Order: sequence, then structure tokens, then C-alpha cells
Amino acid sequence: MENICDHKNCNKSGKYKAPIEKDNSQKFRWLCLDHIKEFNKSWDYFKGMSNLEVCYFLKSDMTWHRPTQSFSSPDNFFRILWSSTLNKNSDTFNNGAFQMKILKNVNFSEKDRKAFRVIETEVGAKWEKIQCQFKKLVKKYHPDMNSGNKKFEEKLKIITLAYTQLKLTYKGK
Ligand SMILES: [Zn+2]
Repeated sequence: MENICDHKNCNKSGKYKAPIEKDNSQKFRWLCLDHIKEFNKSWDYFKGMSNLEVCYFLKSDMTWHRPTQSFSSPDNFFRILWSSTLNKNSDTFNNGAFQMKILKNVNFSEKDRKAFRVIETEVGAKWEKIQCQFKKLVKKYHPDMNSGNKKFEEKLKIITLAYTQLKLTYKGK
């Protein structure tokens, strides 16, 4: 029996295995050549993140609010996160599910420092400020805000990963 590509609205034959999570859970889905290429490309964005971070990233609080959305593709995750960030009525940032730690006298890692630079805030900025800054940057670089031009999408992904990095740090992992 032939597998059909698991990508949304794709009916090509799925001959390539794509891991659902970057752990050892053996879970995977089948994709066609075009979609496995796209998948591999976006998967590279997780380079340098630990398995825990990737898992957390894919299962962040975003998913709790939109249980019907599929997050199995990192690329899909980015798009949903961005459109949710742009949505005024979004509750992305208003969840009370966790309290951000107040970070005093913390030795930030080199990764954190880099993330602060990417987000364009001073090291150790208040979490609220980081959120505001992230929102501002998503607005600035989102394709929808640039007449559909995707030239800033790579930059936006890097910004998103920096934001995620800081979120993990502030949450205390
Ligand atoms: Zn496909």
C-alpha cells in the first residue's frame, strides 16, 4: 500500500519519513519529495537547540490555545505563531499558565546574550519588554506586512528562535 503525503492538501505519494519530534520516540509521518525538502530546510532552524528546547518550542503554550492546529511541521509552527502575534485579540501573551521569573544577578549564557541582541533589547530586559519588542519585530518583518514579500522571513525565524531562547531562560527551563 502506498502512503499519501501527510502535508496539508497534498495528494502526492509520501515516500519520505519525517520525524515528528526530534527525540527518540520513533514517531514520524510520510511526506512527498517537495514537502520533505521543505521540512528538512525548516528543521535546520533547530540546530543548536537541545531536544528539550525543540520539544518545548513545538509544544509551547501556543498549542494549548489552538488544539486543532497541527504543529508537526516547524514551518507551520512559525506561521501560526506569527499570525497569532499579529492578531490584536490574540491571547498569546496573556496566558496565566506560568509566571516568568524575575531574573536578578543572573549570568546569562552566550546564547542568551546573542538572543538579546537579535531581539534588540538590553541584556536582562524585563520580560514584558521582550514581548513588546518581539511583537514589534514580527509586525515589521512579517510577509503580510511587506506586500507578501518573503525576503524577511529568514530573519523573522531567527528572531523567533531568539525569542524562544529567552522565553526558556525566563521560564527557568
Ligand atoms: Zn506533499
